[in-house]
Amino acid sequence: MEAPLIKSKANVTNLGAVLLGQHVACDAYDEARPIRVVTHAHADHMVGLGKSLKKGEVTIMTPATKDMIDALKGPRFLSRGAVKTLDYGEEFTYGDETLTLHYADHILGTAQALVEDKEQTRILYTSDFRYSRTPRVDADILVMEATYGDPVRVRPFGMMAEGILVSLVEQGLKRGPVYVFGYHGKLQKMMRILYEAKIKTPFIVPEKIHRVSNVCEKHGMKLGKQLLPFDGEEAQSMLTQNEPSVVFYHSYSRKKINGEALQIRASGWEFRKPCRRVGANEYVVALSDHSDFNELLEYVERCNPRLVITDKYRSEAANIFAREIEKRLKIPAKAAPT
Ligand SMILES: [Zn+2]
Repeated sequence: MEAPLIKSKANVTNLGAVLLGQHVACDAYDEARPIRVVTHAHADHMVGLGKSLKKGEVTIMTPATKDMIDALKGPRFLSRGAVKTLDYGEEFTYGDETLTLHYADHILGTAQALVEDKEQTRILYTSDFRYSRTPRVDADILVMEATYGDPVRVRPFGMMAEGILVSLVEQGLKRGPVYVFGYHGKLQKMMRILYEAKIKTPFIVPEKIHRVSNVCEKHGMKLGKQLLPFDGEEAQSMLTQNEPSVVFYHSYSRKKINGEALQIRASGWEFRKPCRRVGANEYVVALSDHSDFNELLEYVERCNPRLVITDKYRSEAANIFAREIEKRLKIPAKAAPT
């Protein structure tokens, strides 16, 4: 196929829409596209969703992502437009193009989106993903996340941070409540890690995190039976009496915390060590739901597409990553929007 022709089949717009084929816009509103796909329920992938619901023909997501959005924005939000849920692998045909969603290991419900057009060109958007548990989808054109697309963004310590999280929490519980901060989705992964490590103390959660956690459990994540609402009597009395419990807050939470209590923040932006002390009782652990540089590159190499587009709307490293792909893999690559 001619290079200019293949280039016209995918792009990322200035407003953040990932365009696949002729009809699909992923993760931001695009006025020319009848089909909107939401790959997962993180805010930077729900850009202009209200507008898509109002003006677009149909908005497509996995059933779990729909439940996540209902939990985060209230069930009335999505009822403003036509929403279709699509299971992983299920086909949706529009005109002469077929859309399928494929599993991605990121937060619950996350999907890679694949469009196959009438010339049988396979156009894939990976969305956000963690490589080790994300199946590779074959594609001719690959649109990639590039969050850690800079060669210095590697985590040689792998999964060590998970074990460190458990031992930090165990230590902190000897003194009373432990506070854990993270984003939606990652908080629930931390709950699962602690639950699997047999930490039996109650998990105290504000309302929104409680709702998201219930969705995760509905879709098969095991978080334990120990979730207590933050505003409830039981949780409040435990906290006033300094009883051991794990309190989960969103990263943006401004709630006041007793300075003696142990605080743990999960962050993907840690590359030197799996855990770093940042205050007397404060630690950052390197837990990420994204691939590091080596993993991103390995996905491209295995996929071996004819063209790669790196998402510059969501990743500052998109230019660097495109250059590295060309240099190391000899595959044409560009960052978009330019
Ligand atoms: Zn995300």
